[in-house]
Amino acid sequence: MSRLDVELIPAFSDNYIYLLRDGATGTVAVVDPGDATPVIERLERDGLPLNIILNTHHHADHIGGNAELVKRYGARLIGPAADAHRIPNLDQAVSEGDAVSVGEAKATVIETPGHTSGHITFWFGDDDALFCGDTLFSMGCGRLFEGTPAQMWQSLSKLRTLPDAAKVYCGHEYTLSNARFAAGVEPDNAEVADRLRHIEATRAAGRPTIPADLAAEKQTNPFLRADDPRLAAALNMSDAGPIEVFAEVRARKDTA
Ligand code: ZN
Ligand code: FE
Repeated sequence: MSRLDVELIPAFSDNYIYLLRDGATGTVAVVDPGDATPVIERLERDGLPLNIILNTHHHADHIGGNAELVKRYGARLIGPAADAHRIPNLDQAVSEGDAVSVGEAKATVIETPGHTSGHITFWFGDDDALFCGDTLFSMGCGRLFEGTPAQMWQSLSKLRTLPDAAKVYCGHEYTLSNARFAAGVEPDNAEVADRLRHIEATRAAGRPTIPADLAAEKQTNPFLRADDPRLAAALNMSDAGPIEVFAEVRARKDTA
């Protein structure tokens, strides 16, 4: 059992970079440093090293700080093997089921294509921490830039099998707009309405909604519930399968 400390580093307008510290060894990692500047500021404040960089996918708002951080701290760069051609200078290219260590903290790599074809998620099972980039958002999911609805539904279905205790550390603070959208899709769903109220209060107080509880996502995130008959009924799609329902919700969100 390790003790992994996770801290949010806000970047750009709505990205989160995550600072990970393994209590046992003092090993420090960051997840998806789209911008080096806020990471350097945070590390400098406590005189911390940077041992490891984890990347979930190739988008610039997730890897843009890699080069500067590697140069400055000598951090080891770990990212998806399927994206090795478009994430420069990976030291460790990982794929489904691979183990990744941050000191004594251990993650398993889960391939979650859909937002991009090479997207991966890091699951620190002993620490209940899920770093899912732009695959699963709180109350939402990433846009399908390089994947199909079937692929993304399969990726999200994999994440849905993880324990309720999992904390969701996603790439963006999109929760409020996602929750408003979800409430619009299912105006009669009391759990969704209740969660929207909580999220509105959290944001009104200037607090992050991340990490989200995976248990709450399973209950209220429409993109994790494409096989829930209540959602299908709300869309007048009771005869449709989950992939069709998923595709419909995603299409509506794309134009919302
Ligand atoms: Zn992205
Ligand atoms: Fe992003």
